[in-house]
Amino acid sequence: MSQSNRQIRLAARPQGECKPTDWEHVDAETRAPGEGEFAGVTKLISLDPAMRGWLNDVRSYIPPVGIGEVMRAGSIVEVTASNHPKFAVGDHVVGTFGVQSHVVSDGRGALRVDPSAAPLPTYLGALGMPGMTAYFGLLDVGALKGEGETVLVSGAAGAVGTMVGQIAKVKGARVVGIAGGPEKCAMLVGELGFDAAVDYRGDDVRGALRAATPDRVDVYFDNVGGDILDLALTRLNLKARIAICGAISQYNNETTVQGPANYLSLLVSRARMEGFVVFDYARQFPEAAAAIAGWIGEGRIVTKEHVVQGAIDDFPETLSMLFRGENVGKLVLQVA
Ligand code: NAP
Repeated sequence: MSQSNRQIRLAARPQGECKPTDWEHVDAETRAPGEGEFAGVTKLISLDPAMRGWLNDVRSYIPPVGIGEVMRAGSIVEVTASNHPKFAVGDHVVGTFGVQSHVVSDGRGALRVDPSAAPLPTYLGALGMPGMTAYFGLLDVGALKGEGETVLVSGAAGAVGTMVGQIAKVKGARVVGIAGGPEKCAMLVGELGFDAAVDYRGDDVRGALRAATPDRVDVYFDNVGGDILDLALTRLNLKARIAICGAISQYNNETTVQGPANYLSLLVSRARMEGFVVFDYARQFPEAAAAIAGWIGEGRIVTKEHVVQGAIDDFPETLSMLFRGENVGKLVLQVA
């Protein structure tokens, strides 16, 4: 093969926010697939806040990306050549193929997706990892009972948050979202059916949250951590559950992570706070995907994707959009 494989590799471990010099843009050789392998061209790359964590050389649920390695990323490729029994030329396949234009894979962890059943970006959003995260974080970790309960979700206008709120509505709960800016808040209520939304960049956030949660909160699904987690801790009901999904407000901190000062409200409310990693539910993904696909089909869940048209080289700039709150729903880079 003569085509080159454009890659983004990690050049240096970022301190705070990622800088252009933390990345290396490389033209690597492509190769033909060997026995039991397929080759594919990348169409869509998933942008995830967790990527920032993967760049730190610390103990985590997954090893850090090594210096000089292709940046880890979920993506969808179209198969262009195959010696693999399960994947044929023309198939679309989702997997952790990295930020690169050309892929050769043995198929491990890869899954064929059907572009005629759902638009490709949906397989990285509502029907992909963020959808699974919302489903299991809310229903298993958050143990949502449904009607009569109030769910509060931060990062509510993002990939995971939009799904958390809508699944909670399907289950009959009252739903309150926290997001940045009046447009996102209006979208949550007007388009996605949330009962209320609080703009954390607005005035008197504490008062707005109190007004939006008259019956307090039974499940708090936390995507952002920091001050918002602290505030949510002041609104708990007896036996409330907090699902610690992420803490995007803390990912670029150069020194310490800000912990919750109000944690004693867990004692007062006999509440619990529990972290989770979606990959622990991998065996149950088909069950969740089938449920979510059903709700989409019934018109009870609206899928939200934010597709940036670009090239592999646009990955670093697109990633930083997440930390500036420039995305609505699942952020995806379309490269082919
Ligand atoms: P996302 O919500 O689509 O995008 C990130 C959003 O975070 C931005 O749009 C922005 O929205 C908000 N944000 C950025 N900086 C912020 C800050 N300083 N304070 C408050 N909000 C801020 O991302 P996602 O993919 O759905 O991920 C959401 C969270 O889930 C992340 O924390 C991620 O790490 C976590 N996650 C965890 C798992 C797991 O297995 N535990 C799996 C997937 C994702 P605003 O405009 O509203 O600020």
